[in-house]
Amino acid sequence: MARRKKIYEGKAKTLYEGPEPGTIVQYFKDDATAFNAEKKDVIEGKGVLNNLLSEYFMLGLGQIGVPTHFLKRLNMREQLVRSCEIVPLEVIVRNYAAGSMSKRLGIDEGTQLPRPIVEYCYKDDSLGDPLVTEEHIAAFGWASQQDMDDILSLALRVNDFLSGMMLAVGIRLVDFKIEIGRVYDGDFQRLVVADEISPDSCRLWDIESGQKLDKDVFRRDLGSLTDAYSEVARRLGVMPNNPPAPSKPTLVN
Ligand code: UDP
Repeated sequence: MARRKKIYEGKAKTLYEGPEPGTIVQYFKDDATAFNAEKKDVIEGKGVLNNLLSEYFMLGLGQIGVPTHFLKRLNMREQLVRSCEIVPLEVIVRNYAAGSMSKRLGIDEGTQLPRPIVEYCYKDDSLGDPLVTEEHIAAFGWASQQDMDDILSLALRVNDFLSGMMLAVGIRLVDFKIEIGRVYDGDFQRLVVADEISPDSCRLWDIESGQKLDKDVFRRDLGSLTDAYSEVARRLGVMPNNPPAPSKPTLVN
């Protein structure tokens, strides 16, 4: 088989040219990085879990009419997505204070926010993805006002969808990050949810115990990351823990 053309290698995923024009294969690696790649490790099984979970979330979003780049999962580590031009922003939605917001504003982690707060960071690893305002975004032409209206509405729809889905399985969606892509249909551009949605890019806390089920387990050395991600997958029914019981009648003594 001919070698595929690698387009880009990121921290957690590698992108290859897809089989048809306008498509890309996203390969989910087991690499975990944090603090702008100062902390690194290989966590066996992380890529498989994120591939399955991201597929699950993207398909669900598609079903409620939120456009995404997702086309189909190809195998345990790869999915086919529409190629798009990534808006150079990390769009963060927060429901509870945590992480950088808690540090920046001195709010205890876990404090419920008065309403979901959307933040934008400029995607540039060499600068550490700095927080920017809509003024910067407009002035530097990273996105138009119309794009920003659409991005805000997409981000809030994703938040409602994910929050509800998580609540149903006893998990609090504290915050998350999404990336937005532009796809072109002739002269028209559409914005879609791109990249991935997984416990790498969300904060997920068990509602009862407060246990962290996301990448903070790795960032803060809180235990096994695969156990945490598997628990999310198991609760959502993406990777059932207990295989279905055999349907054959069993002999009762
Ligand atoms: N996040 C992410 N990628 C980044 C930065 C943040 O996926 O490069 C996610 C992070 O997992 C969390 C949310 O965005 O769910 C808010 O992160 P925060 O700004 O608190 O960053 P951190 O605490 O990681 O510095």
